Amino acid sequence: MEIEILGAHMTEMAGAKPTAMVIDGVLAIDAGSLCSSLSLDAQRRLEAILLTHCHYDHIRDIPFIGMNVSGQRSVDIYSNPETLEALYTHLVDGKIYPDFLKWPEDQPALRFITISPGEAFNVSGYSVVAVPVAHGVPTVGYQVSSPQGKKLFYTGDTGAGLDSCWQQISPDLLITELSLPTRMEDWARKVTHLTPNLLHEELLQFRKVKGYLPSVLLIHLNPTLEDEIEKEVAQVAEELGANIALGREGMKIQL
Ligand SMILES: [Zn+2]
Ligand SMILES: [Zn+2]
Repeated sequence: MEIEILGAHMTEMAGAKPTAMVIDGVLAIDAGSLCSSLSLDAQRRLEAILLTHCHYDHIRDIPFIGMNVSGQRSVDIYSNPETLEALYTHLVDGKIYPDFLKWPEDQPALRFITISPGEAFNVSGYSVVAVPVAHGVPTVGYQVSSPQGKKLFYTGDTGAGLDSCWQQISPDLLITELSLPTRMEDWARKVTHLTPNLLHEELLQFRKVKGYLPSVLLIHLNPTLEDEIEKEVAQVAEELGANIALGREGMKIQL
């Protein structure tokens, strides 16, 4: 499968877009930058979107997807009940933006599908399983397996404490967040995000539990602190003998 990183950051400014990626052009995960990155035709090719949690930088483009596919098709939005509830209460609510779960009447543009963590489901030919991670609101990471058996796991936003998550997955590629430099670790723990030092600890634990380390790609970077983060990540990669790269907008990975 081909994974394209559309947004590799936690906010938006020239040169940085919020989190989103798309697999083989049909399955998106998170929706921070789908519409600013994909042509109208590409948006209409999306069959489903998996959302990790309800924070704005991950759900922002769902209303515009509804607008852009309406009259053409329905897009399935998968997430945990808390995320779908927040989306329907605050964003696609018929007030801030049209209620695309009911409109157009003959073929509503969006369909919400509630997932249960730990239960595998099929989307567009991929086998997907959601795994809870530690973040400030109910959040799941997704392991996506291709028909050829290649596996991607994307954590979504997470803080430290991924032991039980690691036990449930076996990815060839791990995409995880890394938001802040190590000097801000106290704050990162408080707001449940990762630093290079916390990533180091989590990857050591991964290797202990699974007996290997996958390739690692880091997204959800704070663009104002990226140079500092990059230097620290290079050191972690060297210490672990691991392949760890920073994600960039437009990056494509073949798996
Ligand atoms: Zn976020
Ligand atoms: Zn978040």
